[in-house]
Amino acid sequence: MYNVTSLKAEEFISDEEIQATLAYADANKDNVALIDEIIAKAKERKGLTHREASVLLACEIPEKIDEVYTLAEQLKKDYYGNRIVLFAPLYLSNYCVNGCVYCPYHAKNKHIARKKLTQEEIVKEVTALQDMGHKRLAIEAGEDPVNNPIEYILECIHTIYSIKHKNGAIRRVNVNIAATTVENYRKLKEAEIGTYILFQETYHKKSYETLHPTGPKHDYAYHTEAMDRAMEGGIDDVGLGVLFGLEMYRYEFAGLLMHAEHLEAVHGVGPHTISVPRIKHADDIDPSVFDNGISDDIFAKICALIRISVPYTGMIISTRESQAVRERVLPLGVSQISGASRTSVGGYAEPETEEDVTSAQFDVSDQRTLDEVVNWLMKMDYIPSFCTACYREGRTGDRFMSLCKNMQILNCCHPNALMTLKEYLEDYASEETKKIGMALIERELENIPNPKVQRIAREHIHDISEGKRDFRF
Ligand code: SF4
Ligand code: SF4
Repeated sequence: MYNVTSLKAEEFISDEEIQATLAYADANKDNVALIDEIIAKAKERKGLTHREASVLLACEIPEKIDEVYTLAEQLKKDYYGNRIVLFAPLYLSNYCVNGCVYCPYHAKNKHIARKKLTQEEIVKEVTALQDMGHKRLAIEAGEDPVNNPIEYILECIHTIYSIKHKNGAIRRVNVNIAATTVENYRKLKEAEIGTYILFQETYHKKSYETLHPTGPKHDYAYHTEAMDRAMEGGIDDVGLGVLFGLEMYRYEFAGLLMHAEHLEAVHGVGPHTISVPRIKHADDIDPSVFDNGISDDIFAKICALIRISVPYTGMIISTRESQAVRERVLPLGVSQISGASRTSVGGYAEPETEEDVTSAQFDVSDQRTLDEVVNWLMKMDYIPSFCTACYREGRTGDRFMSLCKNMQILNCCHPNALMTLKEYLEDYASEETKKIGMALIERELENIPNPKVQRIAREHIHDISEGKRDFRF
């Protein structure tokens, strides 16, 4: 029985409800009156339910799809402006006891190089990341109670925050580790993490169990209910995601929105971010064996529909996607991207060569340096942002959401983006990037609506040229 407020996975992600949603979507995919009604609701910025959004996903009427794209672009501009927040993943350990069939870290893979960073190696990795200009990391580790216990993760977070190299600092550590206990989530919260991210992989229970044949991750309910435990442990920013390609994308899309609705209904705050990874080639993983792969067109449609369905939720796209795909979906609602990522353990301080036995989790499509990514974003008139202000000002969970819903966040994000970009340009950028960036900052300062905020931002940007750092609104 579907029950959005139930704490049981099979009730808030009810298979019956998803099947009924898909049937409803099929029955109404040409129902222009209903489609117009749904788009009109989205225009009022009220978001969409999983049923409404699923009708639009099933709809193939070109003019209606164009309306969805136009609306997604508009909402992106209104809520996020033209800033794009940058981050990098940091792989701590690829020891893993699980048997996920789509990931090369699965326990049965005996030939992949297993690595776990020591604290000294973390210092090297983080120094290399700071030297690129990164301020925000997402740490990743396989599930292994012996090699990667929570104490190890906590120690790593502590080390990362403590490294101050030249003007560098990691100001926000987001965490992507296996589902765990309320007690462990509480410890992560105390370690001052930003967002806790856990991909569902697939919401389809039977497929989930087949794709995770062994290990603790096999338990669908324990995995699916993890975000409720995280919130119970005090983490109020959580990030959802599915691995598109494993199951039918329409099923996953409905499940993803149902999960968001559940968090909002139970905890009063929806997901902070949604990630949209697609399955990629890696070591012994061939994506073509998964027959639910989605085309770039469907991928773009999903991004646009997420944007209009949950307008206040950030959307993340990684270097799994090529430059061309990233260019296509950025205007449709993506608010965060990774840049210059290494998906192997220890890959920043000592990049792996082709001859090495790779320890990467997936092949990176976008191989550019951070400077190239920053330069590319600015040439498309985006403001690359290294902002971490909200979490450090305690604007998390519902406090963040209410700011966002009132569009107040634009009064913070825009100047914060410009100030952190200025830091990047001063400390890490190439001459060409610096030149483009300085001109962009000058132009964009004019766009800060509040004169007082504009004046203070100008002063801070001047102070950054004089060597001061870490200003924020
Ligand atoms: S997806 Fe995560 S849990 Fe599964 S094998 Fe890979 S690292 Fe382990
Ligand atoms: S001000 Fe807050 S919401 Fe805006 S970019 Fe910074 S951290 Fe993100």
